[in-house]
Amino acid sequence: MSQTMTFSVALASLLAQEQPSQEQLVCLLKATGDDLVELISAANRVRQQQVGDAVWLRGLIEFSSYCRHNCYYCGLRSGNKSAGRYRLSPAEILAAVRQVAAAGLGTVVLQSGEDAWWTTARLVELVQGIKEQQPQLAITLSVGERSYADYAALHQAGADRFLLRFETSNPQLYAELHPGTTLVQRLECLHHLQQLGYEVGSGCLVGLPGQTLADLANDLLLISRLGLPMVGIGPFIPHPDTPLADATAGDVTLTLKMLAITRLLLPASNIPVTTALATLDGSGRQNGWQAGANVVMPNATPATYWQQYELYPDKAQLGDSLQHNLATLLAQITAAGRHVGQGPGSALARKEYDNAKHTAQ
Ligand code: SAH
Ligand code: SF4
Repeated sequence: MSQTMTFSVALASLLAQEQPSQEQLVCLLKATGDDLVELISAANRVRQQQVGDAVWLRGLIEFSSYCRHNCYYCGLRSGNKSAGRYRLSPAEILAAVRQVAAAGLGTVVLQSGEDAWWTTARLVELVQGIKEQQPQLAITLSVGERSYADYAALHQAGADRFLLRFETSNPQLYAELHPGTTLVQRLECLHHLQQLGYEVGSGCLVGLPGQTLADLANDLLLISRLGLPMVGIGPFIPHPDTPLADATAGDVTLTLKMLAITRLLLPASNIPVTTALATLDGSGRQNGWQAGANVVMPNATPATYWQQYELYPDKAQLGDSLQHNLATLLAQITAAGRHVGQGPGSALARKEYDNAKHTAQ
């Protein structure tokens, strides 16, 4: 009974947009049974009120699987000598972008390992080329850590958004999992991106070995403190060719709770259902959309490369081409009682729009 009381207090406090304590967040993360149902439906309700029934599609182009980093959990880590490595040429990327635009999507996400061949000068040229050909497309980059000057040049060239997860807010765990780098460094990159005016996405992994519920509560506090317009949260999935091969995968329900609480903390944000969630749970996308998420990122990489971009094994696939992926997704979105969002679907623009509406009244 007192457990339920504590849950109710914690949920009511979040719904009132009060700053939660770590203890309250841990309590919400422990929700089971009726409490769990209530948490998920509260997030679904807030999602509907704040961002509506649209599910936004982002065309994901995984343009290089080379990586200089050695993150313990990731199949693309430099220490994995059996990883298949490929790099799309600028012409191949532009062709994939054209397909994304032709399919009517409003955003392209360019993601890669930290590949030294892709200097900032080359990336700048690519971003400019995309903006020239498809000025209506929002461009999101997800290429890891670069200097302030590099991020500035990329933003100047036309990159609108940037995805860089902080992965875990526990500095010690971060250092253990990311040899040679620190959480401080990662947070500095995020601050630079925010200062430069990018629409910034970040978030964490759920179920990393050694990660506690208190750590996840701190991840949520960091997400809230950063006021992120985009939040990516997915379960950790062990990859057999990494030092974490024998670790247990992240929990699906715990991931859904993280999504739901994020929606309550940042009601107007864009929250994707991740492929990692769909990989562990056949209904992961639908469950995620019911728990506060409103975005999905179909794979727009040429299909011949899909197998080699192996962050984790058995990546859930929708179809064997972008068209096939979109058809499957459309059916899933419609079955969930939702519709596809039109245009770039920016959370920042949405906020301005809301403010404008508010001022006009
Ligand atoms: N190199 C860039 C982008 C590619 S990795 C970067 O690191 O930002 C994109 C995301 O994949 C990472 O942020 C990480 O959270 C996720 N990822 C990597 N390995 C994973 C695994 N084994 N299970 C689940 N997600 C993983
Ligand atoms: Fe490289 Fe990103 Fe994988 Fe780390 S998570 S090894 S930076 S691709």
